Amino acid sequence: MRLRNVTGSREMIAGSEYVVHEPELIKGKWQEEFGNGYPIRLEIGMGKGKFLMELARSNPQINFIGIEKYSTVLLRAVQKMEQEPLPNIRLIRMDAEYITEVFSADEIDRIYLNFSDPWPKDRHASRRLPSRQFLARYAQILKRDGVIEFKTDNTELFAFAEEEIEGSSVWKMVQITHDLHADEEMKKDNVMTEYEERFSSMGNPIHKYILQKL
Ligand code: SAM
Repeated sequence: MRLRNVTGSREMIAGSEYVVHEPELIKGKWQEEFGNGYPIRLEIGMGKGKFLMELARSNPQINFIGIEKYSTVLLRAVQKMEQEPLPNIRLIRMDAEYITEVFSADEIDRIYLNFSDPWPKDRHASRRLPSRQFLARYAQILKRDGVIEFKTDNTELFAFAEEEIEGSSVWKMVQITHDLHADEEMKKDNVMTEYEERFSSMGNPIHKYILQKL
């Protein structure tokens, strides 16, 4: 994602009521933070928040947390939330590498990874969000039967993600497609992300898998 220098984005985020500023303090208490007992879903690498907001709007009985590494990007989501506050969304600016410091075992129902950065160099493979290193972190915070949904137009990244779960005793592949928008079953509830709109309009097919934690 190209980052424009948004002056004062860190400061603007620091003053936002939609951003949880010390998320480690809420570890194990996220339902209290939302003030209800609804299930909690995460989007990791949420970008500007279109996907998260659409889902939250149509699912008021589910809580959503968006995680984004860069304040310049997160600021866009904060600005959208100011226009349309949604009670079932919280935002966190953090590197997902530290996710187990912020969520307890069994705290999360579902994780979305949308158009994750490909990190094409082999030596950076562990930074890819569907890598085995990240999957091990997700396994720690997801409930049993919890789900990961991953989509991308990047064929190499998707092939890598498939390899990462081969022979796994932790993850079960529930659904997979290499052309999401042509798959009658899987496209039914699809909510497009910003990147998805851009890349599918260029004719790129979208790969998607749904994994379940055993
Ligand atoms: N999900 C959005 C979409 O589909 O439109 C944005 C996709 S963009 C290519 C990837 C986003 O993931 C970027 O905003 C990037 O900053 C964020 N990201 C990458 N690695 C991350 C990490 N380790 N923790 C949190 N966010 C991350």
